[in-house]
Amino acid sequence: MSSLRFKAVEEAFKKKAVVVSAPSQFTSDYYGKFVFNKVAMAKYLSKDTIKSLNNVIDKGATLDIALASQVAAGMKLWATELGATHYTHWFQPLTDGTAEKHDSFIDYAGAPGEAIIEDFSGKLLAQQEPDASSFPNGGIRSTFEARGYTAWDPSSPAFVMDDALVIPTIFISYTGESLDLKAPLLKALGAVDKAAVAVCQMFDPSVKKVVAYLGWEQEYFLVDEGLYATRPDLLLTGRTLMGHDSAKNQQLDDHYFGSVPTRVAAYMKDIEFEAYKYGIPAKTRHNEVAPNQFELAPIFGECNLAVDQNLLMMSIMKKVARRHGFRLLLHEKPFAGINGSGKHNNWSLGTDTGVGLFTPGKTPEENLQFVTFLVNALMAVYKHNALLKASIMTAQNAHRLGANEAPPAIVSAFLGTQLTAVLNKLENSTSDEAIIFDEKKKLHLGIPHIPEVFLDNTDRNRTSPFAFTGNRFEFRAVGSSANCSSAMAALNSAVAAQLFEFKAEVDTKMAAGASKEKAIFEVIKSYIKASKAIRFDGNGYSEEWKVEAAKRGLDCETSVPKIIEAYTSASSVELFGKLGVLSEKELHARNEVKWETYVKKIQIEARVLGDLAINHIIPVATRYQSLLLDNVYKTKAVFSTAKADKISLMDMTLIEEISEHVSIIKKTVEDLVVARKVANVIEHEDAKANAYHDSVLPYFDVIRYHIDKLELIVDDEMWTLPKYRELLFIR
Ligand code: ADP
Ligand code: MG
Repeated sequence: MSSLRFKAVEEAFKKKAVVVSAPSQFTSDYYGKFVFNKVAMAKYLSKDTIKSLNNVIDKGATLDIALASQVAAGMKLWATELGATHYTHWFQPLTDGTAEKHDSFIDYAGAPGEAIIEDFSGKLLAQQEPDASSFPNGGIRSTFEARGYTAWDPSSPAFVMDDALVIPTIFISYTGESLDLKAPLLKALGAVDKAAVAVCQMFDPSVKKVVAYLGWEQEYFLVDEGLYATRPDLLLTGRTLMGHDSAKNQQLDDHYFGSVPTRVAAYMKDIEFEAYKYGIPAKTRHNEVAPNQFELAPIFGECNLAVDQNLLMMSIMKKVARRHGFRLLLHEKPFAGINGSGKHNNWSLGTDTGVGLFTPGKTPEENLQFVTFLVNALMAVYKHNALLKASIMTAQNAHRLGANEAPPAIVSAFLGTQLTAVLNKLENSTSDEAIIFDEKKKLHLGIPHIPEVFLDNTDRNRTSPFAFTGNRFEFRAVGSSANCSSAMAALNSAVAAQLFEFKAEVDTKMAAGASKEKAIFEVIKSYIKASKAIRFDGNGYSEEWKVEAAKRGLDCETSVPKIIEAYTSASSVELFGKLGVLSEKELHARNEVKWETYVKKIQIEARVLGDLAINHIIPVATRYQSLLLDNVYKTKAVFSTAKADKISLMDMTLIEEISEHVSIIKKTVEDLVVARKVANVIEHEDAKANAYHDSVLPYFDVIRYHIDKLELIVDDEMWTLPKYRELLFIR
């Protein structure tokens, strides 16, 4: 009866690995071949053009049309030689993923209807006006001023994908408000550069630039394409809305770092070949904890570029999966009962003099700088813990956070025993003890020497959402499908504002006569005390932590629509406003979009769940039930009443159980529909989102519970939806 499911299972078993060979034996031969990088620029642009362009990228010089035209000419030649016939501005709207609209290079050389040439001007490179009225903007653009435009981001290199020259851009409204995720990120990165340089110069005046780095670790699931196609919930929502646990799942811990299945290994190689072509330094690949869950991580890089590369990588991974008969699941929680997927954001700051600002130094001076940055980062995370949580929160990620596998829905920072000891010592010492000068006026820091082995020695606390891991912080709460821009804009802004404040406090103390070292020490000491609430090295999954965190005043909100409100709190409005990252108007507009997106996601899931319950599950369950009933009748016809009653006992119990589950499912789906209708007529997006969270979402678990019970009762042959064991173990 469920022939489609069995056919899909049979086909999936037969599939062999699709082996793809590398474009060349040496990765370096083809690495970055499709990127307009330094090598390509040297070949297609004049030295003067490159110099002017670098001034724009590194020093923020304004981009004039003459320069754009010179770059456009070289870029077009390079791209057409690689087979590009079209170009597109690539941007990051407030929805998921990226957006692009392709235009051909063709234009009339002279009068319309005459000869055609390939044309690409500086103006087309620098700016476009996509018909953007259908992108979410949270009410910033009413339709009569619907114009928005995309503007070239020269700091992220253009690339050729398929037949198009792809130009990374920001997306802004006619009146200058950001309508995307990239523009605020660029502003936040500019702010953290400026703030960190000012602090670095207290230690080393030769520092001129500080770069924020990001190394993302992309987790994902692969599911056989045929099986995927017969699961309407996966197809339409990216996650399973039902499905009983597989008898075996991840309890044997045999998947993490296990040998990669051959079909998957071929896929991994293929995505790496693609990554290298686009200059994405894919480095690490392995199985993850859950069955059919994997990870890809590149070598870290400059934050803005790393974000773009992650977006590109996600789309490559999606595309290549089809080639291998798989579907890629980037959803944060595709399967209940096993681990979800995240995207750890490894974040650090580094100077143009080659110093990692979160790398413990070899000398006391370096260590004072290290401690300065470490403590400022803690202070920033402490002050803005609610905002940081909001920056990673979505309807999807909510399923992952707080469950017993992912960072909890409370932001705290993990330092490990050694660093904690250092901070405790500093906190309890006087400046005279902590800062000692020897006879040569050389500084000695009276804190326990931080040994070099320290780098590899940070205890790994997997339950912490924000963990120090030797030379960086790892923001683990970011979701697998997320655009890292949101988290990185919030984090870099928080740290930038904090560093500005730190510098000002130190300056004030110095103006009052304190030595630089003493001033720095005093401020650090006050920060260590003030930010203590954010430090937590214990088990983030425990119930005690929830109680303790609330006592410490950390944000413990669990409802997504309410968590998002942190974006418009007084402290966030001040933070983003002061740095010029986002205005209050933009913050409110963004929240409108977030609430709207939240509502739509739950709405779609609710519809799919209702449909599946009514036209997959209940019909199958009642069909099986009538088979049982039939059996009872026939038993009665053959045996004496007493004997028949005894024989039919088991069938009768099942019949009753099925009716009970079916009637609860039916009733709950009806209630769900009513709750949705009530929520749908609410006018304001925030109230609507809250209604969806409070009165629609709770029905999901009830419906699922009874469907999953039926899955265990109903004849396997009749069940139409591929089961967890099939989705998770066939590869
Ligand atoms: P894990 O042990 O956390 O799974 P991985 O090797 O999978 O580690 O990923 C670690 C990521 O952190 C990589 O992308 C790596 O390049 C990145 N990384 C390492 N050092 C830094 C740093 N100083 N700043 C930012 N990212 C870093
Ligand atoms: Mg990893």
